[in-house]
Amino acid sequence: MDESSLDAARPRLTFDLDVDVCVIGGGLAGLTAAREAARLGASVVVLEGRSIGWNASGHNLGTVMPGYGVSVSSLIERVGFEDARSLWRLSMEGADYVRAAVADNAQPGKPMADMALTEGALEVSKIEAGDELISRLQTFGEDFGTDVEGWQADRVRETLKTDRYFHAIHFPKAFQIDGRRYVHGLAALAEQAGVRIFEDTPVVSIDPAGVRKRVATPSAKLRCSQIVLAGNAHLGAPGRRLTSTLLPTWRYAALTEPLGERLAAAITFRGSVTDTHDIDHFRIVDGDRLLWSSFETTWAGDPRRYARRIQSRIATIFPALAPVAIADAWSGMFGQTVHGMPQIGELQPGLWVLSGLGRQGLNTTATGGVLVARGIQQGDDRWRLFSPFELVWAGGSAGRVAGQVVSAWSRGSSAAAGALSRFRERARGRELARERARETRMAAAQARATGQRPAMPRREDNSGSAGST
Ligand SMILES: Cc1cc2nc3c(=O)[nH]c(=O)nc-3n(C[C@H](O)[C@H](O)[C@H](O)COP(=O)(O)OP(=O)(O)OC[C@H]3O[C@@H](n4cnc5c(N)ncnc54)[C@H](O)[C@@H]3O)c2cc1C
Repeated sequence: MDESSLDAARPRLTFDLDVDVCVIGGGLAGLTAAREAARLGASVVVLEGRSIGWNASGHNLGTVMPGYGVSVSSLIERVGFEDARSLWRLSMEGADYVRAAVADNAQPGKPMADMALTEGALEVSKIEAGDELISRLQTFGEDFGTDVEGWQADRVRETLKTDRYFHAIHFPKAFQIDGRRYVHGLAALAEQAGVRIFEDTPVVSIDPAGVRKRVATPSAKLRCSQIVLAGNAHLGAPGRRLTSTLLPTWRYAALTEPLGERLAAAITFRGSVTDTHDIDHFRIVDGDRLLWSSFETTWAGDPRRYARRIQSRIATIFPALAPVAIADAWSGMFGQTVHGMPQIGELQPGLWVLSGLGRQGLNTTATGGVLVARGIQQGDDRWRLFSPFELVWAGGSAGRVAGQVVSAWSRGSSAAAGALSRFRERARGRELARERARETRMAAAQARATGQRPAMPRREDNSGSAGST
């Protein structure tokens, strides 16, 4: 299927309808919930205010890995070990769902035909924190059953030619997809399961009281038994209170022009790379281009402006690549919750929420979509694992300002922590060199005194990395 046919428009809803399930929002969350509810026998409609995947779902970096927007340790602290492990397992199932969906839509002529998945993701540390690495590896690997590998700094630096990163956690089973083709493929799979999708159909109000609920659009009305709110922070009038629990966050991304041989010399890792502070996220695409995402704002900024900043960010991390020319730049908005976990579950009988999916949306949209559909059709109540993460007001416009300040502060403090780690590493290198010179001088003096050949100074590992894992 050629790229332009992905944008073929679907009709607007212009006639009244009566269905089992009405999903508001045609992003990954809504489409997954719709597809799964239809596969379980419901009559389902998706109402999309603009077009499929126009926002974050069609503009992400396509990295699929387990986890949520909070660290594993915070998750355990919040819900206890057993529930944290169950939540983690759900996120792994979400990643498996994406892989299976790609396989289901891989036939020639379909949006995901021959989509090559690149394997593996590296989570690199910008600071030296070996003890933390070992404990995280133990939690991921031994406690939560995820395939992980610890990489020491020298291995990381062989693969990524920069002194900005120290050790890393390698997730060999994480993978990358083409995000735009995935959302369109998912829409096709949903339709194949019987879902009717209407574009250019914003929902302007809902009445969720009673057994049969009402949904209004500018040109038609709909009655249904279940409503799924999957509109992300764009939901607007039908869910003002819900939207006020999300901090809208625009993330920026850019694609470079082909970089030729110098890219292969600077980066040999073929999967995606994220840093532990969620500042940069990148991977190689089309053989020799860099797809790079960085910078977040709580307002819709101009992607061209952020493209320039991404350009200098690439030069800072990989000086050997500078200057890079940017071919394209864009942004996408996602809603962040105050607690960092997604909002998945039933708000009142027949009214479901599926939003706040944040940066880890590819696995969580799948996890959440499946849970909501099974909750509706089968009474499966595993969505209750997300109940401890309630709807918390995100602070309105003051919250946006605070969110931006926190984001700037965390970028600044991450940069400072990184600089301090690199300073310590250089100081340790200098100290080691001094020690070796001293040893050489002493060995020479001793040899002169005894008339023997001087012994070689001992060699030491200067990687400054975490312990072996
Ligand atoms: C630059 C960038 C890179 C990213 N990279 C990754 C990554 O590599 N891996 C990863 O896991 N995640 C990534 N993400 C996050 C991921 O893309 C999102 O979490 C996910 O797409 C959210 O899906 P969604 O369906 O909730 O939201 P959306 O994609 O925003 O979809 C919601 C839809 O609902 C519609 N809607 C809203 N209100 C209404 C209404 N009233 N009536 C009708 N329709 C309505 C909107 O028009 C929209 O199409 C990235 C995000 C960005 C911005």
